[in-house]
Formats: sequence, C-alpha cells, structure tokens
Amino acid sequence: MEPLVAKIIYGVGYWLASFAIRTRHIKARKQVQVRSNRNSRLDTSLFLSVGVGGFLIPLFYIFTPLLSFANYSIPLWVGLTGVAVLATADWVFWKSHKDLGANWSPILEICEGHTLVIAGIYARIRHPMYLSIWLLVIAQATILPNYVAGFSGLVPFAILYFQRVGKEERMMVEQFGSEYEQYLGRTGRLLPKLRVR
Ligand code: SAH
Repeated sequence: MEPLVAKIIYGVGYWLASFAIRTRHIKARKQVQVRSNRNSRLDTSLFLSVGVGGFLIPLFYIFTPLLSFANYSIPLWVGLTGVAVLATADWVFWKSHKDLGANWSPILEICEGHTLVIAGIYARIRHPMYLSIWLLVIAQATILPNYVAGFSGLVPFAILYFQRVGKEERMMVEQFGSEYEQYLGRTGRLLPKLRVR
C-alpha cells in the first residue's frame, strides 16, 4: 500500500472515527458524579502513553520527516488485513460505548447510579472496549509502514491492559458482588467463552 494511502486510512479510521465516537460520551461524562475513584498515578501515566503512542508519534510520522529513518515496507495483504481489523475495531468501539452508556469512564471509577451492564456486546465478553483498542493498535502496526509509529500504540496499550484489567474486575466484584462473579463465570475477557459452565 502507498504510504500516503496508509496515512489517510489510519487518520480517518483511527483518529477521526474514535474522536467522532467518543466526543459525545466525554461530554455526557461531565454530568456524572463520581462515587469512588481507583485510578493510580501509574494508570494515568499509562493512559497518557497510549495517547502519545496512538496520536502524537503517528502525528510526527505523518506530518514531518523526523521518523523516516524507521520506514519499511509492509506487504499489501498485511496492510489490507489491517484495514479490515481497523473497520472491525471502529464497530466494536462504537458498540461498546453505546452499550456501556453513562457507565463509561476513561479511568477506573464507580459513579453515582452505576449499573452493571451485562447485555448487548457485554453479554459474552467483559471488555469489548479494550478489545476494540487492541484491534486499533494492531491495525496501527499493520497499516503504518514505520517501525516507530506503527508499534508506538501497541506497546503502551499492552502494558496498560495487563495492569488494569485484573484491578478493574476486582473493583467490579467489590461493587456488584455475586452478580459480577456469575458474570465472570459465563463470559470471556476479550473473546466469548467457548464453554459456559
Ligand atoms: N472494561 C470495559 C469498560 C471500559 S470503560 C470494556 O473494555 O468494555 C472503564 C469503566 O467501565 C470502569 O471505570 C468501570 O467502572 C466500567 N465498567 C467496566 N465493565 C462494566 C460493566 N460490565 N458494567 C458497567 N460498568 C462497567
């Protein structure tokens, strides 16, 4: 794929799409009262690193020659697979925001009137929004033909995910007790459970 085409697909499919999907939820979030906040400094730093890796570094790659030393060529079929992954990521990102509604937060917290969502895309997987971000950063790595800008999203997100997901589930068990424990039993973290007990 031509680098220019890859840059346009990435800019539209990652930046514009995620911005368009999330803006409304960020605005709605301002009306919600927080009841308990579990966010640590490490969480905040990792969250910022995902922003740097998913936005700032690719921005430099797309608009300046600073990262051209790390350019390489990606086989067309890999790039095209990345485009399909990106389209899937956008759909899952949209659907998980829609289903989580007012319970969404960019950080670990419980808000006033927080309800447990176990329907829609949450019926079989517990972390569809994290799944969509995995797909976004995988798409970034397979679409952008540059070692630095391609992988700058995947590395910080992988660290964020693994240090956050267990903490989030413990917080949900504390908040929702056996209802969340049962939910844990019948769902998978990122993919549906094959056999539900
Ligand atoms: N981990 C989920 C949600 C990400 S948003 C996903 O990947 O889809 C993070 C916030 O969502 C957390 O602060 C938590 O309070 C809330 N949350 C996570 N799972 C939830 C659920 N099933 N129902 C309601 N809120 C949930």
